[in-house]
Amino acid sequence: MTPKVQSLLRFRCTGCGNCCKEPLLPLTASDVKRIAKRTGDKPVDFIRWVDRNGIDMDDEPEGFVQLRQGKRVMVLRHYKGGCYYLGKDNRCTIYTSRPLGCRIFPFDATFHKDGKMRHLKLIQAADCKYELDGKNEVDEIRELDRRTEEANDHWHDQIADWNREQQKRKRSGRAAGTAREFFDFLGLG
Ligand code: SF4
Ligand code: SF4
Repeated sequence: MTPKVQSLLRFRCTGCGNCCKEPLLPLTASDVKRIAKRTGDKPVDFIRWVDRNGIDMDDEPEGFVQLRQGKRVMVLRHYKGGCYYLGKDNRCTIYTSRPLGCRIFPFDATFHKDGKMRHLKLIQAADCKYELDGKNEVDEIRELDRRTEEANDHWHDQIADWNREQQKRKRSGRAAGTAREFFDFLGLG
């Protein structure tokens, strides 16, 4: 393990809240299901759809859902300058049910086949006011990374199935489905 990785493993969140105020967070269907179950909120309350001008995801085309209004990414809605679920004290009000993307932030790690950490860097999506006096376990980061990858793969498969259907609709002269129809397709309606 390089000294740089060892140093980053000492990352400690100071709770500044900037990661919940600045970037838009893409969601998966399982994130939406978990949040809706915990809060009782309807997906339309806490979801926003953004196009490629609203989020930097050109390197992840599989995350775009074909809707009637065009290709969109499903993100957590912002309200009054921060995430819909950010409390006044800068704390997450749905902490135990928060999306996987929030859980892994700001770690971006890669691993060798034998499970050893290959690289570790910090995602530069917010002005993160961290300190380097904490302690993070490689095993925990690996497990979170595995769960996130698995959830994203499943989500991208769901999007691909939906997008294929929309292409068929368009070929038969019909418009692509609406966001509401997409939620029905996911069983979130
Ligand atoms: S769900 Fe919670 S942790 Fe995630 S961005 Fe919103 S407030 Fe922050
Ligand atoms: S931006 Fe960094 S320090 Fe601030 S709350 Fe998020 S993870 Fe913690």
